Amino acid sequence: MKILVTGGSGFIGSALVRYLISKKNLSVVNIDNLTYAANPKALDEVSGSPLYKFVKCDIGDSESIKKVFETHQPNAVMHLAAESHVDRSILGPIEFIKTNVLGTSVLLEKTREFWSKLDSHGKKTFRFHHISTDEVYGDLPHPDDDPLLKRLPMFTEDTPYSPSSPYSASKASSDHLVRAWHKTYGLPIIISNCSNNYGPFQFPEKLIPLVISNALNGKPLPIYGDGSQIRDWLYVDDHVSALQEILLKGKIGETYNIGGNNEVKNIDVVKSICEIMDELIPEKLAEIDVNKFSDLISFVDDRAGHDKRYAIDSSKLKKDLGWFPSESFQTGLRKTVKWYIENQDIFSVIINTNNS
Ligand code: NAD
Repeated sequence: MKILVTGGSGFIGSALVRYLISKKNLSVVNIDNLTYAANPKALDEVSGSPLYKFVKCDIGDSESIKKVFETHQPNAVMHLAAESHVDRSILGPIEFIKTNVLGTSVLLEKTREFWSKLDSHGKKTFRFHHISTDEVYGDLPHPDDDPLLKRLPMFTEDTPYSPSSPYSASKASSDHLVRAWHKTYGLPIIISNCSNNYGPFQFPEKLIPLVISNALNGKPLPIYGDGSQIRDWLYVDDHVSALQEILLKGKIGETYNIGGNNEVKNIDVVKSICEIMDELIPEKLAEIDVNKFSDLISFVDDRAGHDKRYAIDSSKLKKDLGWFPSESFQTGLRKTVKWYIENQDIFSVIINTNNS
């Protein structure tokens, strides 16, 4: 099986590429235009493998995408390439529309062209797996809104879309396009919507790596509003194993929600990171002149349109495909903090790239 992965040099894409090659012995063609969020170092483990091919190109460049299909003849596409940071989407939404909406539509068209020329077996077994986010559903009631609420609702696959940010709206648009290509042209698609991922090689603008990076450098740990926003957290390798199950066993045309069943307030995420760092590197505290890392916490104005709570019901994925996450938030977070402490060289290269 040869899989065309888009965005394979990013945070989740690179974890997926490493998993498909190192653990599953599958061939991968990674297409990525290497934006600021890409980190080719994350692929060092597999870049010399005969199972790995890289093509630097934009998913919106139809001629190049066409050539990739003709040259590599993949059996499946796993589409992760996207602009992915909510704050950046608020500052400059157009890039998000270009890649997430227009880019996805070009990729769908070129996939359809390639797929329509396959023989009947190839047509039946081909898959286009679109990797999306739980943020397309908008936000959910928060326990602080009504302490009497006994059962808080969660996002299911039937929750209506109600995105809040330019990022989530662009991802919602791409989900609709993918479904339309299935309904209109019969393209064999599957969509998955996942909660917040964390783990190694995440660009340090997202909450967890940003907090670790700032703490290591004695900088303030910024928390939006009062930090009461709740997110569900999933360790990236668990997301990747779910993606592979969905690609191989998921039903065409279906959507699967992926979550870690770890609802945590942002402030508690930051406090947990600080406690782990206090324990792992107490010697650093004197160097940055604080008693504990949580002394660096600093509350800042809330993000515009900030969703209050996300929670994912992934019972369909568990029941139908037998997938379960292997990390709890406690074990995954400890592993992640340790990784960033031990890999500060990679980390600073990423940060310097961003500054240049
Ligand atoms: P990321 O920002 O770390 O990586 C995105 C990758 O896509 C980068 O390597 C970038 O160079 C590439 N890319 C961007 N625009 C491109 C273009 N026009 N053409 C080709 N390549 C392009 O993102 P991530 O966190 O790894 O997320 C991957 C996917 O998973 C995204 O689609 C995102 O919406 C989705 N997702 C992310 C999370 C999360 O918590 N990070 C959760 C659920 C879903």
